[in-house]
Amino acid sequence: MFEKILIANRGEIALRILRAAKELGIATVAVHSTADADAMHVKLADESVCLGPPAARDSYLNIPALLAACEITGAEAVHPGYGFLSENARFAEILEDHGIGFIGPKPEHIRIMGDKIEAKKTAIRLGIPCVPGSAGAITDDVEGLRVGAEIGYPVLVKAASGGGGRGMKVALTAEDLPDALAMARSEAKAAFGDDSVYLEKYLQKPRHIEIQILGDGQGRAIHLGERDCSLQRRHQKVWEESPSPAINEEQRARIGEICAKAMRDLNYSGAGTVEFLYENGEFYFIEMNTRIQVEHPVTEMITGFDLVNEQIKIAAGSPLSIKQEDIVLRGHAIECRINAEHPTTFRPSPGKITYYHPPGGLGVRVDSAVYAGYTIPPNYDSLVGKLIVHGRTRTETLMRLRRALDELIIDGIETTTPLYRTLVRNPDIQNGDYDIHWLEQFLAAGGGDGIV
Ligand code: ADP
Repeated sequence: MFEKILIANRGEIALRILRAAKELGIATVAVHSTADADAMHVKLADESVCLGPPAARDSYLNIPALLAACEITGAEAVHPGYGFLSENARFAEILEDHGIGFIGPKPEHIRIMGDKIEAKKTAIRLGIPCVPGSAGAITDDVEGLRVGAEIGYPVLVKAASGGGGRGMKVALTAEDLPDALAMARSEAKAAFGDDSVYLEKYLQKPRHIEIQILGDGQGRAIHLGERDCSLQRRHQKVWEESPSPAINEEQRARIGEICAKAMRDLNYSGAGTVEFLYENGEFYFIEMNTRIQVEHPVTEMITGFDLVNEQIKIAAGSPLSIKQEDIVLRGHAIECRINAEHPTTFRPSPGKITYYHPPGGLGVRVDSAVYAGYTIPPNYDSLVGKLIVHGRTRTETLMRLRRALDELIIDGIETTTPLYRTLVRNPDIQNGDYDIHWLEQFLAAGGGDGIV
């Protein structure tokens, strides 16, 4: 096992990793930008190193500074968290070249899954069902129109290097396609420096259901059930739950085993998520994330396993100790992402937290790095915490979530908490009757009016 690891991240996920490391008896090194000198992850780590100025490219994405931090502190491995360098295959390789462990999958797997076109080709090869679409990149309008006619409109233009919902454009008809291709290309070029795009059938009323997997790179891989992340805004998840209100045990076992087998065939190492859209009883692969995800706690709550602990042990070379039959889903869990944003306009609201009271009690978990007196810097994403609630049934979980949301106080900044207080009381949400468009339609219809 490692004696010391460096956490190349900030905010709640840095704290999450730090907690897992401490429970394994591993010393921790925090890194931070000058904007984060007072951050909680810096206070709680055994050591800390300042990487540079606030801009992420000068600090959290600064590979030479991170290597120097490992060198100075003697950290044997790096946990990248999510975002930042977590899906950067080159970073994983550079660490390897310097004899430092990367707590994540092999660079080759990060690279395949980081290119969505390659990822889909690989998924097809591994027997994972995919959304109908182009076999590769679409390089000109004529080819786009040919594929569009083949799969049928509406179609979605997606960026091969896409992430965070960027570089995606819907074409309702063939006439819209040339513009959608051009817009997706320029957005993708600006955001990812790569303008390759591909086409997919645009599913009209799907749910987003994803499968959590763990592999040890020694031939073993299991799945830990699904998460339903259908409540989204601008293709970004806001509420996640497990089990999905839409699928049954048999469907879970079937799609879960398809993913676990695929990971065994790949000899995948570490935690990962295979993401699907689900419509009319069918699953369609959209992408795979080769890292820990924001919404991983809902899986932890219903399985009882600590996914970050497993990631660290796998990276240290331990064989997977959990067997598929050890995964028993108990009860229901829901996560709300609390963002420092206006609850209905979603305008960012950085600033000083003047008062903070997190909820508690049975089945309530708060993963957050904020405290009273902490100033949220404007430089990074707006996630300030996650409220995760666990209950024996979905109904009990919703009642508990309602109670916990009513207890949560974050003063001094605006947060999305009031939106969740409305959602938890909504009949469609209570019935589990929602798809990926529900939240935007609800907001467009004025459902958010009057929320403060
Ligand atoms: P990103 O990596 O940018 O998050 P994803 O491929 O994971 O992109 O898709 C993000 C979201 O976009 C999905 O959860 C879903 O809401 C929507 N989406 C993606 N592909 C399709 C599709 N073929 N049809 C309809 N919606 C889609």
